[in-house]
Amino acid sequence: MSETFVIVGAGLAGAKAAETLRAEGFEGRIVLVGEESARPYERPPLSKGYLLGKDPRDKAFVHDTGWYGEKDIELVLGVRATELDTARRTVILDEFEPLRYDKLLLATGSRVRELDVPGATLNGVRYLRTLPDSDRLVEALLPGAHVVIVGAGWIGLETAAAAREHGATVTLVEVADLPLQRVLGDEVAQVFADLHRAHGVDLRFGTGVAEFVGSTGVMTSVKLTDGTEVPAAAAIVGVGITPNTELAAAAGLTVDNGVVTDAALRTSDPRVYACGDVANSENPLLGRRIRVEHWANALNGGPAAAKAMLGQQVVYDRVPYFFSDQYDLGMEYSGWVEPGGYDRVVFRGDPAVKDGKAPEFVAFWVKDGRVLAGMNVNVWDAQDDIQKLVRAGYAGTIVDLDRLADPGTPLTDLAG
Ligand SMILES: Cc1cc2nc3c(=O)[nH]c(=O)nc-3n(C[C@H](O)[C@H](O)[C@H](O)COP(=O)(O)OP(=O)(O)OC[C@H]3O[C@@H](n4cnc5c(N)ncnc54)[C@H](O)[C@@H]3O)c2cc1C
Repeated sequence: MSETFVIVGAGLAGAKAAETLRAEGFEGRIVLVGEESARPYERPPLSKGYLLGKDPRDKAFVHDTGWYGEKDIELVLGVRATELDTARRTVILDEFEPLRYDKLLLATGSRVRELDVPGATLNGVRYLRTLPDSDRLVEALLPGAHVVIVGAGWIGLETAAAAREHGATVTLVEVADLPLQRVLGDEVAQVFADLHRAHGVDLRFGTGVAEFVGSTGVMTSVKLTDGTEVPAAAAIVGVGITPNTELAAAAGLTVDNGVVTDAALRTSDPRVYACGDVANSENPLLGRRIRVEHWANALNGGPAAAKAMLGQQVVYDRVPYFFSDQYDLGMEYSGWVEPGGYDRVVFRGDPAVKDGKAPEFVAFWVKDGRVLAGMNVNVWDAQDDIQKLVRAGYAGTIVDLDRLADPGTPLTDLAG
């Protein structure tokens, strides 16, 4: 009897898992179920090239329309999985026949965290997660329009950059003292504050949203917790995401800030796997469980989970990686540092924003002489070496910090 593998969640992780199952020779039935009506797509363009009108919509999709048929992958779109019965090995779908599985992959990703303040349902209060969200946002980013962005995380900052490039006036509101403060720490967070200020963004730190104000259902201004009020036709909220764990939790799988998996991406049920944003997976390199909300983890986690489902030996121990583009700044980051989990940032190059131009540098987050993370800003071809340094750092290798800071010392020499 041929086996059936069901993948719930038709995002990047789910699509890459389906691709890998076929590439590795799986000949059974593959069903990829997704709640959204669009076939699997990548989300990074939604706040960058696509939002800016530079990249076509088609570029965001993981595969061509015809690819799923060619690979005999059943794509069930616009359908939500509502229940998982692990004893009967069955997934219940909304208005669709139940699916029995031999192995199941949860790739349900995450959803935006919503602000619970007065006026939150007014027309003009927006979030960014999906293609339709991005389409709606473009309509709000008109030249001269006043936009308030709530949250100076990656989504907020990229959206602020896109809004400025569209010619909108932007006020960015953030409860912390700097953008990305928890992720990057003060030293590097300052670069992003300087960059956005240089591009004319009105930065309001140390304050949050008290209320979205409007009349006849339409937002007209945003009242902040510091008592000020900012007139605006649109507010774009980017205050984090929540993993879609409900299906797993109701089925009795272990859930703790995501669906808990081992290093082979297997959940507490041996026939059920999880990957991408929704998984909180043991990472042997870091010696702990982590949940990574980034593109590369979906891109690589999907294939890793697929191989594990096929019974291959899998140890998913990648160095966490992400990237961002804002104005003329492009960056990549590899590694893992808890807030305050470093004692020093070593800069290779000058991180100062001068004349509104993004700097070129590499930053390393170091603890006890070990590199735990590195970020290259407008410096390219450094990632392989940064990842080697991070791997070495987590293995206990201490580097000479003067040489680390010295652009004359090839990173390859330090990475070994
Ligand atoms: C605007 C934006 C920009 C981004 N930019 C970057 C970037 O520059 N760099 C970077 O590293 N990362 C970026 N990310 C993060 C990256 O896109 C995510 O980490 C990635 O999308 C995670 O992929 P996933 O497949 O795990 O989950 P998702 O992309 O969330 O896909 C999961 C899918 O499962 C569906 N689903 C959920 N529950 C069910 C259910 N019960 N039944 C059926 N279907 C269900 C969802 O509707 C969704 O379509 C960005 C994210 C956004 C939103």
